[in-house]
Amino acid sequence: MDSPLARFAKLGIRCDADLLLHLPLRYEDETRICPIAQALPGQVAQVQGEVVRREIVNRGRRSLLVEIRDDSATLTLRFFHFYGSQLRQFEPGTRIRAIGEIRGGLFGRELLHPRYQVVHDDTAVPTTLTPVYPTAQGIGQAALRGAIRAAWKRTRLDETVPAALIADLGLPPLEQALRQLHEPPADVSLAALEEREHPAWQRVIFDELLAQQLSLRLARAARAGQRAPVLDDARQVNALRDRLPFDLTAAQARCWREIATDLASGQPMNRLLQGDVGSGKTVVAALSAAMAVGSGWQAALMAPTEILAEQHFRKLEPWMQAIGVRIAWLSSSMKEGAKRTVRQAVAAGEVDLLVGTHALIEESVAFRRLGLAIVDEQHRFGVAQRLALRGKLAAGGQDAMQPHQLMMSATPIPRTLAMTYYADLDVSIIDELPPGRQPIATRLVSAGRRDELIDRVHEAARQGRQIYWVCPLIEESEALDLQTAQDTFAELSAALAPIEIGLAHGRLPAADKQAVMQRFADGGIRVLVATTVIEVGVDVPNASLMVVEHAERFGLAQLHQLRGRVGRGSAASVCVLLYHPPLSPPARERLKIMYETQDGFEIARRDLVLRGPGELLGARQSGVAMLRFADLQRDDGLVERARDVADRMLAGDPAWVERHLARWVAGRDEFLKA
Ligand code: ADP
Ligand code: MG
Repeated sequence: MDSPLARFAKLGIRCDADLLLHLPLRYEDETRICPIAQALPGQVAQVQGEVVRREIVNRGRRSLLVEIRDDSATLTLRFFHFYGSQLRQFEPGTRIRAIGEIRGGLFGRELLHPRYQVVHDDTAVPTTLTPVYPTAQGIGQAALRGAIRAAWKRTRLDETVPAALIADLGLPPLEQALRQLHEPPADVSLAALEEREHPAWQRVIFDELLAQQLSLRLARAARAGQRAPVLDDARQVNALRDRLPFDLTAAQARCWREIATDLASGQPMNRLLQGDVGSGKTVVAALSAAMAVGSGWQAALMAPTEILAEQHFRKLEPWMQAIGVRIAWLSSSMKEGAKRTVRQAVAAGEVDLLVGTHALIEESVAFRRLGLAIVDEQHRFGVAQRLALRGKLAAGGQDAMQPHQLMMSATPIPRTLAMTYYADLDVSIIDELPPGRQPIATRLVSAGRRDELIDRVHEAARQGRQIYWVCPLIEESEALDLQTAQDTFAELSAALAPIEIGLAHGRLPAADKQAVMQRFADGGIRVLVATTVIEVGVDVPNASLMVVEHAERFGLAQLHQLRGRVGRGSAASVCVLLYHPPLSPPARERLKIMYETQDGFEIARRDLVLRGPGELLGARQSGVAMLRFADLQRDDGLVERARDVADRMLAGDPAWVERHLARWVAGRDEFLKA
């Protein structure tokens, strides 16, 4: 059993101020007593009455029934778990006050396991609402309430924001706000409290957002004081640009200029390169790597899946070899001996660019001179993993320096999120697709027409087109996922013979997977049946038809990523979302959005509305991980004001900044360094 202190620590409570900032999830109204006759099923009500009967029944589930009566009617309290001592409490004639949700039972209305107390003439009814706190195992509501009441007696919470700034915003003083939240008067609007629109909540949320803004600003300032290698020798960059079979789009060129400026600055870059699927991020990454290597440093590129990392490697290898950059590949599925050889070469500085998966951040990997860390699909990695890659320079011995960091993402982030999450990131956006891209027609097809669809696929394959057939996502079971992929593979192989069909899924040994993908890229395989392993990054321009089976099971971001696999070549492309009716309302909405728009930003915006930001970014992302009370979407107005006030506080008195951060982020700021 943990000590009480350890249990409180689990809730993030280490001192009185933490206790006072531990805020209710909701409230119960014990300020009113409802006549029993008016307590309707489905309502939470507090009633009071005299015990008229108590009985232990053994029919069905053994339970204790206590009947109480007031002037208006009777009601039964039902307990499945009870002690002998409880039985004695319910002497007929005793007065009981009980609160809970009224249920319409077979034998009249009941309260199931209500909270109750024995009352006397002088037992007062509370004048404030009763808070219900978030809690952890081993801590009861009563203990939390007691601890918080005691903290109020011992502690005063000083303001950590200058009063004038708060007054300008029309928000209440902090202590007053917290009192109202812990002990709301009986006449407060419960709806405003629970929706967190009450000024008291707004004040707390504001303070939290302010802390976030302040710490992100400070992290940025700290970074500006760090040193990084100066990467400015462009000879290899120019050589690469001369060899590219295309010109950079204007957007790529602009992003590249922004990156090149950072790389030459001598301060560590912390930049996100954002661009919709197919916008051409890889070539910008390649130019960055060429700049690092040309300037005498090493670069690393880490991708979240083996398939994606391999794609990068295969794309980059000819480019890099052409300009004399030594590129190597590292993944955890390689044989130990092969891995060791690569690691040794990396440590000896004989590899200039290392591409791979999580294997790159294993402890055994040491770079001689890591100047640039590139992370693709950065939101797929946790903060710790990104930190680990950046730590590889310090591991190389030059601990006064930080490597530059370039992150890439195809998940567009709406504005409010960008303001909080990216306060310490510079963002470059490729907002234009390479020329000649064909729009993708999206069709919604019901599973009833599957045979017809297979005929269409057959026809397309005969005409030399290539097709992805993506198999459903089965959340509960990877084994089932695989099974459906194998079944579909067998079905299509039979229906389309002798056309060659391939199968790719996550469980395939790396070498086989690579062979299948390569054969699809070369055009040997016409139809690739795949699980979502192809979701990110796979690039086969000749593929112009995609079928997503059970599309209703996929999230919007995933569907968008999947669809982005086609429309990359010159042929007009089609994405068929095959769905199985009946559709749930959210599934219908997702398919409708996919049908209506191809714009990644618009899709992300509507996804945010459907799902909320935590999921969009992944719960472990830095900025969002700090937020307990704020909801970036609901509170977006406060985000802007917090930014403003953060600027004014930083320009004013640093002592306020320090006090505010000490209260809100002590111990949690590690996350901000990512
Ligand atoms: P993503 O941003 O999704 O990672 P990629 O970097 O994989 O996109 O690029 C998608 C495809 O577009 C690749 O085949 C790439 O070679 C091609 N491409 C990139 N930039 C250009 C360009 N400026 N002109 C023509 N094709 C380009
Ligand atoms: Mg990519």
